[in-house]
Amino acid sequence: MRKPIIAGNWKMYKSVKESVDFAKQLNEKLKGIVDREIVIAPTFLAASSVIDALRFSNIRVATQDAHWENEGAYTSGISPAFLKELGVKFAILGHSEKRQYDNETDERVNRKLKNVLRNDLKAIVCVGETLQERESGKTENIIESQVKGCFEGIGLGDLSNIVIAYEPVWAIGTGKNATPEQANEVHAFIRGLIAKKYNAEAAGNIRLQYGGSVKPENIKQLMAQPDIDGALVGGASLKIDSFEALVKF
Ligand code: PEP
Repeated sequence: MRKPIIAGNWKMYKSVKESVDFAKQLNEKLKGIVDREIVIAPTFLAASSVIDALRFSNIRVATQDAHWENEGAYTSGISPAFLKELGVKFAILGHSEKRQYDNETDERVNRKLKNVLRNDLKAIVCVGETLQERESGKTENIIESQVKGCFEGIGLGDLSNIVIAYEPVWAIGTGKNATPEQANEVHAFIRGLIAKKYNAEAAGNIRLQYGGSVKPENIKQLMAQPDIDGALVGGASLKIDSFEALVKF
């Protein structure tokens, strides 16, 4: 059984104070839920304060990136070792906005992933095609090459600490979500890639999130698909009632 995982990516929204207030309110609303994993990814600046506000909570804190080294002359770098010390549990890697604005590549995601895992953190690895790639029939090629690049040298034993988020770029923040069937088709394809690279058991166990305009109104249909195990949510994770509804889909 794959435990559902609902994650909120707050991007560059919510100040430290707003993040802490929001986390406290969420904590009240989501108390006692243990049949699904709940993750929030506030700004790096708020990670420590949010973790303090969530002591003994069932809500886990993620960051929106992490470096491939633990220390060094990397101005602005965020060390996974430091994140671990704070109590961060997950790092989101390869988000399409990082790929688009910060020249993130699969090779860098792969190095980051290895270091995140070395530091005993879990990772949410994002993949997804652009509209142009989808329309020219290249979705599977793109996903295959992203999975191949991001998972280079990743061992079977590490897979239980990795979640893959399929986030079609054309659906992120656009209000245009993939239909549940479209999303499931790509999820099934990703599971097939994992089966080919590792084995059928690993493919059956790895959790796959869908991301791209997930809202309270569409999460139920998405989660009803056999290969969708969770959601990575941007916009709709920024309001209490909406995130509560997503978690309680
Ligand atoms: C995201 O940030 O990963 C995302 C999917 O955003 P949105 O839900 O706003 O489309």
